[in-house]
Amino acid sequence: MKAVELFDLSGKVALVTGASSGLGARFAEVLAANGAAVALVARRAERLEAVKARITAAGGRAIAIEGDVNDRAAMQRAFDAAEKAFGAVTVLVNNAGVAHAHRAVEMPATEWRRVLDTNLDAVFFWAQEAARRMLAAGQRGSIINIASILGIAVAKGTVAYAVSKAAVIQLTRALSLELAFRGVRVNAIAPGWIVTEINRDYLESDKGKALTRQIPTGRFGEEEDLDGVLLLLASDAGRYITGTTVFADGGISNVLPG
Ligand code: NAD
Repeated sequence: MKAVELFDLSGKVALVTGASSGLGARFAEVLAANGAAVALVARRAERLEAVKARITAAGGRAIAIEGDVNDRAAMQRAFDAAEKAFGAVTVLVNNAGVAHAHRAVEMPATEWRRVLDTNLDAVFFWAQEAARRMLAAGQRGSIINIASILGIAVAKGTVAYAVSKAAVIQLTRALSLELAFRGVRVNAIAPGWIVTEINRDYLESDKGKALTRQIPTGRFGEEEDLDGVLLLLASDAGRYITGTTVFADGGISNVLPG
């Protein structure tokens, strides 16, 4: 078996949430470059169009769908639009997520709700909808949830985020158990610190640079460091992998600081 065939996504239809920037945009471009037709979902229509334009210029197939992951009607419209354009979604990347910087005692209830709504509730409902439609279409599929190293460790000022990502890891296991027999795999990727436009200033500051000394690989991750694990979980190369969270974190989740 050649790697190019093993990881080939031709015939697959992927839907990526939060595809307008950062990791989501990268995931969408990598899936498209390897043969998948991709539905891009996010709130910022202009930025989505730019990602779509890059994909089509590179010879890929994509549609852009404006929508908030917390809006269930928009969710239905997104799956309908993807289906109409390309057929049933067979790869879902549950990527949209939000962070916060509040210490627990200062955390407003609205902020707690915003983080849990987006990082947990939406992940469940988009996975549920994808699975329902895969089963109805009689299709095998792969659901990939984006967790974090903060799903198994904690840092100050991340209480809601860390709880939401821990829940995503457990949600991944629970869904995988119920869906495995029906041919739908559910896995998660737990990235470490990956440089994207949203955290670049912080990670490249002196404070950020000091953090790299704690990372076994000695550097922050780049968006392309997740390409391999994404393709493994999305493609038939990962056909016997389900319920797993793959850590792509330069080894940081294994070590004590010092
Ligand atoms: P990002 O802010 O660039 O990407 C998040 C995306 O989600 C954005 O496109 C944003 O618009 C979208 N989004 C947020 N709320 C939404 C909503 N309600 N509806 C639709 N879209 C919404 O950050 P990123 O670093 O690319 O993060 C992507 C995912 O990776 C997140 O789930 C994040 O928690 C996770 N993650 C990132 C890192 C990292 O170091 N970059 C590490 C671990 C986990």
